[in-house]
Amino acid sequence: MSKKAPIFEQISRRSLLKLGAGAGVVGPVGLAATSAQAVNTNAHIVIVGAGAGGTSMANRFSRALNGARITIIDTRELHHYQPGWTLVASGVWNKTKAMTRTSDWLPSNVNWIKSTVVEYDPDNNRVVMQNGQSLDYDYLIVASGLELRYDLVEGMDVSLIGAGKGVGSVYASIDDAEKTNDEIDRWIASGRGTGLFNLPPTALKCAGAPLKMTFTTLSKLERSGRRDNFNVEFMTPSGRLFGVDYYNDFVKQRFTDQGVTRNDFWTLKSIDPDAKKATYAVRDGEDQTKDYDFIHVVPPMTASEAMINSPLAFTAEESFSGWMNVNRETLQNPHYPNVWGIGDVVGMPINKTAASVKNQARVLEENFLAHLQGRPLTARHNGYTSCPLITGIGKAMLVEFGWDGVFLPSFSFIDPTKESWTVWVMKERMLRPAYYAMLEGKI
Ligand SMILES: Cc1cc2nc3c(=O)[nH]c(=O)nc-3n(C[C@H](O)[C@H](O)[C@H](O)COP(=O)(O)OP(=O)(O)OC[C@H]3O[C@@H](n4cnc5c(N)ncnc54)[C@H](O)[C@@H]3O)c2cc1C
Repeated sequence: MSKKAPIFEQISRRSLLKLGAGAGVVGPVGLAATSAQAVNTNAHIVIVGAGAGGTSMANRFSRALNGARITIIDTRELHHYQPGWTLVASGVWNKTKAMTRTSDWLPSNVNWIKSTVVEYDPDNNRVVMQNGQSLDYDYLIVASGLELRYDLVEGMDVSLIGAGKGVGSVYASIDDAEKTNDEIDRWIASGRGTGLFNLPPTALKCAGAPLKMTFTTLSKLERSGRRDNFNVEFMTPSGRLFGVDYYNDFVKQRFTDQGVTRNDFWTLKSIDPDAKKATYAVRDGEDQTKDYDFIHVVPPMTASEAMINSPLAFTAEESFSGWMNVNRETLQNPHYPNVWGIGDVVGMPINKTAASVKNQARVLEENFLAHLQGRPLTARHNGYTSCPLITGIGKAMLVEFGWDGVFLPSFSFIDPTKESWTVWVMKERMLRPAYYAMLEGKI
C-alpha cells in the first residue's frame, strides 16, 4: 500500500454515512434552497422524459408550485439506476439492485402520459406524441436523454449482446449489462484471446463507463491467473481517453502499466459477428480490421430524431449540432424562453451524467421560478459533472469537475487525484440512495 493510502482507509464510518446522505455525493451544494413558499400559477408544464432529470423536475415543481398542471411523458414503466449498470456488467451487482418502478417516484399530482414525443412545435407551444395526440403547454421541460445509435455500427445489433458470439455492451439496457458480464466471463473461461474496447466518435453519457468496463475486465483477467494469455486493446477516435488532462494521462499510464494496447484515432465502423472481426476507420489511413474473441461495443450517441429536426436543437453550423440548445448556465432555450432543458439531451462541453442532472435540477428550478415571477435568472450551472472512475474491482477515484476541466471536489478528505477503496465503497453502497434522493428532488 502506498504511503498516502491510509488517509482513505482511516475515514470513519460517520464520514462514510455523511457521504451517502450528503448532497455532495452527486454534486456540491452550490445554491441556496428555493423558497419553502410555493408559487401560485395555473400554468400547464409538460416534462418530456421520466428519467433522472424529468423525475427530479416533476418532484421539485410539484412542491414549489401551487395550482400548476404538470404532465410528464414517457413510456418506461421501469426506472433504471444507470450508474449501477457498470457494477452489473462486472458481476458485482445483481440487476434487480438497479431497477425500480417509474410510478414509485412520480408525485400523485403529476399526470403521466405513457407515450413518446415525436415532434416539437415550439412556435405553437405544442408537442406531438406517438399516440397521435398533440399536447399544448405553457412551459416545456425537455429531459429526454439520448439515443444509443448501435445502427451506426454496421453489423451490430443489440440482440448480439450476450448471444455467445463475444459481443458485450454495458450501455444497451440492464439486461444487456448482465449479459455483458456473462460474455466477459465466458471469454475469460476460454483461457485466451483478444478483447477490444472503444470510445465512440460522439459525446457519450458517463464518459468513464467504457474505461470502467476495461478496468473491471482487467481485474477479472488478472484474478484468473492467466493474464498473459489475453490481449486487450482500446480504440479512441480522438486520441484521448478522458476530457480532463489529469485523468487522460492517468488512464493512459495505467493502460500502459496493465498491458493494454491503445489504438488512437480509430473509430469502430462495423463488426462481423460470425467471423468475430471488427473494422475501424483510421484517421489519415486505411481501414483496419482486427480479430476478436470479445468486443465491448460503445455506440455513437445522439439526441432523438424529434430533437434533431426541431427548432430547439443547435443547428448544423453551431457547436453541439443536433443536441438541445440551452444557455449552458441558465438552462433556458435562447429562442423560446418558455422552453428549458436538463440532462443528457442538452448540448454542452461537458455533462451527460446523473451528477450533472443533480446540479442542473437546482439551477433549473430556481431560474424557472424566477422566470415565472418576472425576476432575473440568477442561478448558474457551473458545468459540474462527476463519476467515481472505477480503476479495478475494489478501487475507484472520485472525478469531479466543471467548465474547462476545473476540479470541483466536494470532500476535503478525498483526494480527487488518487484511487481508493473508500471511493469504491461510495460507488457500490452510497450513490444509489443519493440518486434516489435526487429523483425525489430532495438534494
Ligand atoms: C452504463 C452507464 C453508466 C453510468 N454511470 C454513471 C455514473 O457513474 N455517474 C453518473 O453521474 N452518471 C452515470 N451515468 C449517466 C446517467 O445515468 C445519465 O446521465 C442520466 O440518467 C441522465 O438523465 P436524463 O434524465 O437526461 O436521461 P435518462 O435518465 O436516460 O432519462 C431519459 C428518459 O426520457 C425518456 N424519453 C426518451 N425520449 C423520449 C421522448 N421522445 N418522449 C418521451 N420520453 C422520452 C426515456 O424513456 C427515459 O426514461 C451512466 C449511464 C450509463 C448508461
